[in-house]
Amino acid sequence: MRKKTSETIGKTKPAVSKSRARKTKPIKVLFATGEALPYVKTGGLADVAGALPVELARLGVEPVIFLPEYRGIREKFNLEPTGIKVWVPILEYENTVLKEGEVFTTERNGVRAFFLKNDEFYDREYLYSTPQGDYKDNAVRFIFYARGLMEFIKAGGFSPDVIHCHDWQAGLAPVYIKTLYKDEPGIKGIKTLLTIHNLAYQGIFWAFDIKQIGLDWSYFTPDLLEFYGQVNFLKGGLVYADLINTVSKKYAEEIQTPEFGCKLEGVLTARRQDLFGIVNGIDYSVWNPETDEHIPAKFSAKDLSGKKVCKAELKKELGLEHGDAPLIGIISRLADQKGLDIVAESLDEILGMGYQVVILGTGQDKYHNLFKSLAEPCKGKASFRIEFNDPLAHRIEAGADLFLMPSRYEPCGLNQLISLKYGTVPVVRATGGLDDTIENFDPATGKGTGFKFVDATKEAMMTALKSALEIYRQPKLWEKLVKNGMKKDFSWKSSAKEYVKLYKKLLGK
Ligand code: ADP
Repeated sequence: MRKKTSETIGKTKPAVSKSRARKTKPIKVLFATGEALPYVKTGGLADVAGALPVELARLGVEPVIFLPEYRGIREKFNLEPTGIKVWVPILEYENTVLKEGEVFTTERNGVRAFFLKNDEFYDREYLYSTPQGDYKDNAVRFIFYARGLMEFIKAGGFSPDVIHCHDWQAGLAPVYIKTLYKDEPGIKGIKTLLTIHNLAYQGIFWAFDIKQIGLDWSYFTPDLLEFYGQVNFLKGGLVYADLINTVSKKYAEEIQTPEFGCKLEGVLTARRQDLFGIVNGIDYSVWNPETDEHIPAKFSAKDLSGKKVCKAELKKELGLEHGDAPLIGIISRLADQKGLDIVAESLDEILGMGYQVVILGTGQDKYHNLFKSLAEPCKGKASFRIEFNDPLAHRIEAGADLFLMPSRYEPCGLNQLISLKYGTVPVVRATGGLDDTIENFDPATGKGTGFKFVDATKEAMMTALKSALEIYRQPKLWEKLVKNGMKKDFSWKSSAKEYVKLYKKLLGK
């Protein structure tokens, strides 16, 4: 063995610890997002913004979350004041006034979160829209948010290397970094990644909001923030962010075409070198039938008996007829994107085939009315729950046999991934993340995890449901299919590593 002299110890030790210190200096990432679990949720974005930072922290990143302080969060989560106040210039008619924001904080799951409080903007029943439509002042609400973030950083609240922006609500952060705040010492040099969770929601407002943003008309051009005569926050983000990604590889391709590009395909194609696709993961500490506190019986791929209990209890809870009829679950925002009009149109036929159906969702009034009107005629065979109910969502995932997602487009989709884990077989339209994550079941080889159909039509969906029913009637094959899905791993582990790669790319590491 080589003898350690004081000389070798003295020489090697500092060199090793120095390089280690360099390696372990964490990348500081601020998540700018309109929602994040466990604080507030309207859809999949909250799942992602809640779970991804936790996984990033495990990989040595230092993540924090920056949110509006919506109604009720402060009391429920016992937020503490940071002592930081920001003032954001806002136009009221001809005058500029300084609106105050106070920043509160707390920590959950090892991740610090900051909350920007301004009751005029955020003390409301909903986050962005009521069932009748969007809040009329969403432009100023999220200008205040993005500019408030700049002021928070300036005030020394947190000094990120990267701001990871999510959707249109955070779309102005990259704009500010490269325009109004470009020479600010604490802000200059911050890199930005913009993640598109759903391209259809862009934050489009009237032209004069360019002044409310604080920019002059030279920014109101087709290559910057102008969009068919209006101002577009997401477009601003897409133009100014250093890198862009979306939540599946297929959707990253699709959005560069007129069919899925929502009129931004030109902007996205121009930036295709900087555009990536990273599939979302599932937080298995929340969604796991072996540990789920919301379900009446736990189960696993090794022992599926608990799933039968979950199904029987769920049918009882929903007032559905007892028996072995296969149960289709749907949990969804009730929006045109989700293809629920196709389900409504096919409902008679679906029930006629022997299926039962449960739909849990909230959203547009027209769907509330549609499903309410179907409740009585379908009594005992279908149940419609027009509410946002997380524990019930868990019970449906556990108790249903199939999960139906006939989405017109789907950037990633989380429910099909959750369903796989709960042995609930996904029947999905082959679009975006649904196509990337579900493999068609082939009875000949026993391979595959679900059923896919290509066209957004009743006929295509019914063909897939017929194939599913044939397999359901062969219990051995069905069990194989169920277990194939339960064995899949869609945890955040590998996707979080992909995000770290993008952060490193941004920082030239
Ligand atoms: P999107 O983000 O387009 O709404 P995703 O499939 O990506 O769709 O994510 C939806 C998330 O929101 C899932 O976790 C789903 O369970 C949940 N969800 C949607 N609607 C409801 C509801 N009415 N009650 C409970 N959870 C819901």
